[in-house]
Amino acid sequence: MDSKYNQLTREEEVIIVHKGTEQPYSGEYIKNKRAGIYLCKRCSTPLYSSEDKFDSHCGWPSFDDEIAGAIKNIPDEDGHRTEIVCANCEAHLGHVFYDEGFTAKETRHCVNSLSLSFTQDETRALKNAYFASGCFWGTEYHFTKAKGVMHTAVGFMGGHVDHPTYEQVCSKNTGHLETTQVEYDADMISYEDLIRLFFETHDFTQTDGQGPDIGPQYLSCIFYFDEEQFAIATKYINILRARGYNVATKIEPASTFWQAEDYHQQYYDNKGTTPYCHKYKPIF
Ligand SMILES: [Zn+2]
Repeated sequence: MDSKYNQLTREEEVIIVHKGTEQPYSGEYIKNKRAGIYLCKRCSTPLYSSEDKFDSHCGWPSFDDEIAGAIKNIPDEDGHRTEIVCANCEAHLGHVFYDEGFTAKETRHCVNSLSLSFTQDETRALKNAYFASGCFWGTEYHFTKAKGVMHTAVGFMGGHVDHPTYEQVCSKNTGHLETTQVEYDADMISYEDLIRLFFETHDFTQTDGQGPDIGPQYLSCIFYFDEEQFAIATKYINILRARGYNVATKIEPASTFWQAEDYHQQYYDNKGTTPYCHKYKPIF
């Protein structure tokens, strides 16, 4: 292998050199909504901009345009599909499809995550918010869909046990709450929008858990980062109390976020199902 190229793992080699296809919904960039540039994993040439990425629900990252000149098309021998490779090093990326109706450009570059690396645009700093509203699968499900939310993760916060496992938290002795981390672009969505979404997607009057999930780890809580978040959270609780709701939601300072095991992340989107315990209900 040419030494000017990046070292590939065996998994990456199967895709990039031997033109394999990664399992659908397995790639790390399917849900990546951060602003930045996608590079060729092998030669680091910029291939795609996050501006051209869209959610096709096909199981692989999808782009409706490329960085000019970065991609080479090669018709498959069977004449049915068109392979796409890095124009610089010919790394296999995936296939391109046309006229499917996804976006105005009528183009879908269906790309293996393993063929790509990603560099985030650091000039667009993102903010964090942390919410607990029962089973974190359901909480994350709604936040991940909000425009301006760039990344979500589920985990635990508020307790006294470091590196907690899901099982430990289920034992109800850790003090942790199932918590969703919401990374958002404040130019696109405000903390107030997130707070409204929080209250509109769970029963904030329930005092012993959420829906059928009973226990201290399922309580409703806003973990705030700074004075501003605290003030906004307090404002909305007061608005709801004034409307006659018995708000059970607590407001606590954010502490270490312990990310949960991989199989809890993006649970409903990976399963293709919807939450049993969190429904959107407009109240504001
Ligand atoms: Zn390349």
